[in-house]
Amino acid sequence: MNKDSIYGLTLERLTEWLEGHGHKKFRAAQVWDWLYRKRVTEFSEMIDVNPECLKLLAEHYVIQTSDEHLKQESADGTIKFLFKLKDGNLIETVLMRHKYGLSVCVTTQVGCNIGCSFCASGLLPKSRDLSAGEIVEQIMKVQQHLDLAKLNENVSHIVVMGIGEPFDNFKNLVDFLQIVKDQKGLALGARHITVSTSGLADKIIEFADLDLQVNLAISLHAPNNELRTRIMKINRAIPLEKLMASIDYYLAKTNRRVTLEYILIKDMNDQREHALGLTALIGDRRELAKVNLIPYNPVDEHSQYKRSEHESVMAFYDTLKKQNINCTIRLEHGTDIDAACGQLRSKQIKATVG
Ligand code: SF4
Repeated sequence: MNKDSIYGLTLERLTEWLEGHGHKKFRAAQVWDWLYRKRVTEFSEMIDVNPECLKLLAEHYVIQTSDEHLKQESADGTIKFLFKLKDGNLIETVLMRHKYGLSVCVTTQVGCNIGCSFCASGLLPKSRDLSAGEIVEQIMKVQQHLDLAKLNENVSHIVVMGIGEPFDNFKNLVDFLQIVKDQKGLALGARHITVSTSGLADKIIEFADLDLQVNLAISLHAPNNELRTRIMKINRAIPLEKLMASIDYYLAKTNRRVTLEYILIKDMNDQREHALGLTALIGDRRELAKVNLIPYNPVDEHSQYKRSEHESVMAFYDTLKKQNINCTIRLEHGTDIDAACGQLRSKQIKATVG
C-alpha cells in the first residue's frame, strides 16, 4: 500500500481519524506532540503511545517520505537542501539566517507552469503538486537538521516562495498553513509566514476570504501590461486590472498590507519611467502596499537577462521613496551557492540527464 505522509493531517483530521478507528481523542494530541515537539522520525519512538494505536498508524501512514539528496552551505549560513521525493523527483528547500530569526523557503510543486521568462524553475514544467505532507516535511527536515546541530535553534519564519505557484496547489497550501500554525505543534506565528503568488486573482480573493492572517506577496515585476506580459506570460490571462482589483479586495477584506515583489532586470524594467509607472499603479494604495525590490539573480538559461547595476537599483529605490512609496531592497542570501530559485535543482537534473 502506498502510505500517506502523516504530516499532511491537521490535528483535527488526525483526531477524527483516530476516533473513527476506536481510539480516544487524547491519543491524537500525544501523537501530535511526538511529531512536532519531540520530532521523532519513526512511530516506534512514540514510547508512551498505546501499541495498538502505533500499529494502526504505521499500517496507514509514514513519517518520512523524502531523503536528503544534496546540501549546499553558504558562507553566510544559508543552506540549500535538495530533497528526493519517494517518486524520485527533486525539490529545493532553503534555510536562511536573518537578524530576526531563521526562515525556510518551501517548494509547493514539482516544476511550475506559470512560465515566468526569467525563472530557472519555470524551465521545468509542473509534473505534479506536492501534498500538504510533503510541504510540511520540508520544514520538519530543516528543523531536524537544526536539532542535530544542538544549537537550540528553531525555524521562526516561513516563506512560500520556492518552486511552484502555491495558489495553483491551493487546498494543500491551506492545509500546510494550518498545520504549521497549530499552537500545539510548530506554532509558527501567522505573521511570520508569507505566501507569494504570481497573481492568480481568483485565488487571492479566496485566500482573503479564509482570513488566515498570514502575509501575502505578489510578484509584480512590471508596471504595465505590455511589459508584464513579456516577463510573465500569466499576465495575458490575468492582466493588471484584474490583479489590482483582487488586491483591493484582499486589502479591504483582511485589513492587512501586501508586499509587491519587483525583480530588477537590467534595461528591462529598471528605469525611472518604470518606477514612476509603478508609483501610478500603486496610486492611493500607498498605506497598504510595500514594494520589495529584488536585484535579479542571473541564470545560465536566460542569458538575455542581466542584473541591474547597483546605481540603477538605488536610483529606482530613490524615485519610489520620493513618491512616498514604502520600499525595501531585498538582502541577498547564499550568493556563493546556486542562489537563484530552482538553480540547484535544474543543475542536478541536467547532470543526471547528461
Ligand atoms: S517565478 Fe515562481 S511562478 Fe514564476 S515560473 Fe518561477 S516558480 Fe513559477
